[in-house]
Amino acid sequence: MPALLDLRSMLPEELAAALEPFGTPAYRSRQIFGWLQRRGAEQLGEMTDIPKADRALLGEHFRIAPCAIANKQAAERDGTVKYLLRLEDGETVESVVMRYAYGNTLCVSTQAGCRMGCAFCASGLHGLTRNLLPGEMLGQIHAARRDLGVEISHIVLMGTGEPLDNYENVLRFLRLASHPEGLHIGQRKISLSTCGLAPQIDRLQGEHLGLTLSVSLHAPNDAIRSALMPVNRRWPVEALLAACRRYAQSSSRRVSFEYALFRGVNDSVACAEELAGRLRGMLCHVNLIPGNPVPERGFARSEPAAVQAFARALERRGINATVRRSLGGGIEAACGQLRNQTKRT
Ligand code: SAH
Repeated sequence: MPALLDLRSMLPEELAAALEPFGTPAYRSRQIFGWLQRRGAEQLGEMTDIPKADRALLGEHFRIAPCAIANKQAAERDGTVKYLLRLEDGETVESVVMRYAYGNTLCVSTQAGCRMGCAFCASGLHGLTRNLLPGEMLGQIHAARRDLGVEISHIVLMGTGEPLDNYENVLRFLRLASHPEGLHIGQRKISLSTCGLAPQIDRLQGEHLGLTLSVSLHAPNDAIRSALMPVNRRWPVEALLAACRRYAQSSSRRVSFEYALFRGVNDSVACAEELAGRLRGMLCHVNLIPGNPVPERGFARSEPAAVQAFARALERRGINATVRRSLGGGIEAACGQLRNQTKRT
């Protein structure tokens, strides 16, 4: 990474402290923060009400890590838009805008690639390249806002990467995105999804942020889960669910479990019954996602009838479940299909 600090990754008090030695008054640094975080300036030159001398100084000592649109695909059917964004070192990441009646949601990537190695997922096909900076996550939001001319009201950290494997940067991103002088996206409009790094879930709980915790469970027991998700060998289902229970209890918010259904792998009614037993008594919700095809992975999507039977079996046992409507399938923007395009073979 270049030595100059990324301005867009800095909290307002950090920006003020960094600019103070140059004699920049506090009101000026707040103005710069607003340009970066609320107005989404990509270049110092856009900050027209900041004196030229100050902009020159900023340019000498800091940088704005870019997040430039390299490609864009729109799904005609549901209005989903997928962006390919190029970062300063040539790495690329994807982000997806989903349009719902309640507003526009951006699915944000937190890493270039991923090292979690889930057997059914395209994002980890080439391992992890690097963590994204907070400013590069914010850049994904600003790029979409600017390109579409719309506001982004909700964020899901469900793009490429494992957010809790890039903990510090993700936390800083959350603070910046919800800052009143920035985008001011309330924590309640943010969901963070994890494959199950149990100790980091506890750490997150200690931050008392009020965001929705989403956990990619995908299996009712260790045998199936460890075969699908290597992370389960480190933190098995019971350890993970114990951390989830603590999170639900301390936040009084229900934990959302993602469960992608793959034919003949994890989609039997017996699996649903076992899952219901495991989740009994927890403040939670299960999101069922018909598995999405990833050609390299060879998993098949469950039949609609199997998905319905699975949902009914959960409901019968008092577990709240919905089948998620899949957006963006036609443009490979659906769950598990985001990838690092520069590495595509
Ligand atoms: N690393 C985090 C954030 C990624 S979110 C996590 O694992 O939660 C992306 C979601 O899509 C995860 O729930 C992931 O398990 C799911 N997913 C991955 N591949 C998929 C596929 N082929 N079909 C359906 N869902 C998939």
